[in-house]
Amino acid sequence: MTETTVATTAEKKPPINWVTTILFSLTFLCAITVVPWYGFTHGFSAAAWIWFFVFLAANGFSITAGYHRLWAHRAYEAHWSVRLVFSIFGAMALQNSILIWATDHRRHHRFVDQNDGDPYSAKRGFWFSHIGWMLRYWKTGRNDFSNGKDLQADPIVMFQHRFYLPIVLATNIGLPLLMGWLAGDLWGVFLLAGVLRLVLNHHFTFFINSLAHIWGTQPYNDNNTARDNPVLAFLTYGEGYHNFHHIFDRDYRNAVRWWQWDPTKWLIATLAGIGLAGKLQRVPDVTIERARLAMQFKRAQAALEQGAQRPVPQLDTLRERLAQEYESFQATLAEWGKLRDQWYGAKRQQLAQRWEEASFRTHVREIVYRLRMQRRRMQLLTAQLQRQLQLQPA
Ligand SMILES: [Zn+2]
Ligand SMILES: [Zn+2]
Repeated sequence: MTETTVATTAEKKPPINWVTTILFSLTFLCAITVVPWYGFTHGFSAAAWIWFFVFLAANGFSITAGYHRLWAHRAYEAHWSVRLVFSIFGAMALQNSILIWATDHRRHHRFVDQNDGDPYSAKRGFWFSHIGWMLRYWKTGRNDFSNGKDLQADPIVMFQHRFYLPIVLATNIGLPLLMGWLAGDLWGVFLLAGVLRLVLNHHFTFFINSLAHIWGTQPYNDNNTARDNPVLAFLTYGEGYHNFHHIFDRDYRNAVRWWQWDPTKWLIATLAGIGLAGKLQRVPDVTIERARLAMQFKRAQAALEQGAQRPVPQLDTLRERLAQEYESFQATLAEWGKLRDQWYGAKRQQLAQRWEEASFRTHVREIVYRLRMQRRRMQLLTAQLQRQLQLQPA
């Protein structure tokens, strides 16, 4: 064996991080044995269930709206009182301090799927991206705050980082025991709102790094493994629209359509409505539709190339229709570009009138509508193309 092989093998299995390994194992084992046993033999009080859901939601939103969209991505700005609440209940979720979590996550986006840069690269398998990355001292898991200067300037972030352990102990042991004592169901509240809540919050969040990079669709981009998945969105307060999130990570929304399940974006919008949040980042609709259509053209083109290898009926007609659609797509984009230039030009010259703004918005809406209609047509066209390809044995 050469020296390099030895080095690679050694990196493959760095030493075990016993603190996280024991912590994850014990809480998980307790959640699947002691919790149901206690439920069957003693039953859980209403207070235990209420605190379970309250803390589960408080932890969940502190991670999604706080750790993730506010601190890791700067998708909006929040009042100090909101940041304080997120920092306390985020620490309770026991996923490390904001500073470590957010700097890791920025690396995840920057080096997504690169095994030597992404701390939880999905290319290293389900187990690694789900939990394995935290169980050993992997090189990619080392603390590196070089991408977190802005976080280090936030006193709440630094306070939480410094006093992380006391906050964790107070919220995970002190708080459930106190609530249990007040409700007269000490162990019931501790087991549901303390242990089960922690384990569920852990694995729901971890699914975003594992399952949301394996299971689902890729409507916006297929350059990385991130997937959109409404089932995961339901479990993770909207974070399951991960394919969208990886391409437009500054957007405060992960589910971009109003009807898609994303309670985190509703929470942020509500906070903004009552003056506790501001500067909500939104990617323009045209940009989003452009990405979806570009992806459809890419898929249709790939199908056409596949079809070119063998005789497929109507292939030429389909190719022609695709070319026409592409031309119309380019024309719409050119129109959008011109409109945008005119608008910014007008604004620069301080000529923008109220009616001009209204007409600009109407025009933009029309362009978005046209792109959406084209997306429907492209769906049908691609479906037809795929049907034709299946008709022909390879
Ligand atoms: Zn992210
Ligand atoms: Zn991801």
